[in-house]
Amino acid sequence: MAEEKKIPYKIYLEENEMPKAWYNVRADMKNKPAPLLNPGTHQPMTAEELGGVFCDELVQQELDNDTAYVEIPQEIRDFYKMYRPSPLVRAYCLEEKLGTPAKIYYKFEGNNTSGSHKLNSAIAQAYYAKKQGLKGVTTETGAGQWGTALSMACSYLNLDCKVYMVKVSYEQKPFRREVMRVYGASVTPSPSMETEIGKKINAEHPGTTGSLGCAISEAVEVAVKNPGYRYVLGSVLNQVLLHQSVIGLETKAALDKYNIKPDIIIGCAGGGSNLGGLISPFMGEKLRGEADYRIIAVEPASCPSFTRGKFAYDFADTGMVCPLAKMYTLGSDFIPSANHAGGLRYHGMSPVLSQLYDDGLMEAVSVEQTKVFEAAEEFARVEGILPAPESSHAIRVAIDEALKCKETGEEKTIVFGLTGTGYFDMVAYEKYHDGKMDDYIPSDEELAAYAAKLPKID
Ligand SMILES: *Cc1c(COP(=O)(O)O)cnc(C)c1O
Repeated sequence: MAEEKKIPYKIYLEENEMPKAWYNVRADMKNKPAPLLNPGTHQPMTAEELGGVFCDELVQQELDNDTAYVEIPQEIRDFYKMYRPSPLVRAYCLEEKLGTPAKIYYKFEGNNTSGSHKLNSAIAQAYYAKKQGLKGVTTETGAGQWGTALSMACSYLNLDCKVYMVKVSYEQKPFRREVMRVYGASVTPSPSMETEIGKKINAEHPGTTGSLGCAISEAVEVAVKNPGYRYVLGSVLNQVLLHQSVIGLETKAALDKYNIKPDIIIGCAGGGSNLGGLISPFMGEKLRGEADYRIIAVEPASCPSFTRGKFAYDFADTGMVCPLAKMYTLGSDFIPSANHAGGLRYHGMSPVLSQLYDDGLMEAVSVEQTKVFEAAEEFARVEGILPAPESSHAIRVAIDEALKCKETGEEKTIVFGLTGTGYFDMVAYEKYHDGKMDDYIPSDEELAAYAAKLPKID
């Protein structure tokens, strides 16, 4: 009991164990993430420049490398109460099935209609847009989770929501699209013929099925051209990691309550938001020298930004309209092969996580997609949750680490992020069952060709 006093953020926790403040891990980083650069001048983006694209308060959060705790506005806390705190579950059945002495816990973020952690940041971003008196927001979505989360947040706050959805997903995931329309969002397949960049991309690549980078360019263009609109992004940015820290703060509160100290913390990494959120308070302790943890990012072998990318300034989008970010990247033109079904397709990575990784404070591994789906099924059959393919990357490595413990007899405690459910991903599961899924891994030559096109910044 008395032990609890040592943990500074405890004072922020309410009785229901939900944080009253987000934790900004940048405050404890010695090497801060590199600033976003203006794509024209290569100078750090000022708050004023960023304010043309993003909401004012979110710009402040993006640029603030020093404030450790940022109060969560009451309205956002009220919304969180609808689906938080999210469960931290001990995977007893999985442990038994694996015959491992390891203790496995997962933090389940799929307990809301959008089916993922993305709602944690969507409601925050929509709230600040509303507070600024804006009419609406624009965004892109790939598989659809972010678009769904943002639609839910916008309908709650009566904001207009325009979603540019990667064309291939728009066509292959009609149900996701309809969920967004339930919440009143307008959903446009990208590249569209409504924007200059969309027209250009359609002209240069007739019949293209789109990409995230291209949808981002369209959403930014629409936000900048329409008064009363701003652009919002569901991952990668510092502000999104800040909002997602609610995942890690709750996890830590629950573990501390039972005096459990994890040895290994694992999360899947697309743009890095769930992993960044989950590890933030643990990384904070590590940075302050109070505790040590093994932290592992898991990414697809077909889109290996951390494990095979370059740590360099790159464009966040294909259209090169967004600021440049210094991150682990495969190059803004990189698109994973068409048979890649497991999500986590973004070419870059959160600048915060990129810096932490470069500083040796966390590890990264890449896994092949058939192995990911194998782990997904193994988990689904004993734990009662059908996991999203993205989340299953973390399951794969949690299982692998638990099996290592079986060999060595070590009773390690493993915590992983189960970011969401996979009900809209049954086409991917179908491919796996029918043996139609293969493990395409890009060659060094391919990656080098993309890397050669990285912008030259000195
Ligand atoms: C979007 C998403 C991810 C990956 O995004 P991050 O920003 O890396 O967290 C992972 N899992 C699910 C279920 C998602 O929807």
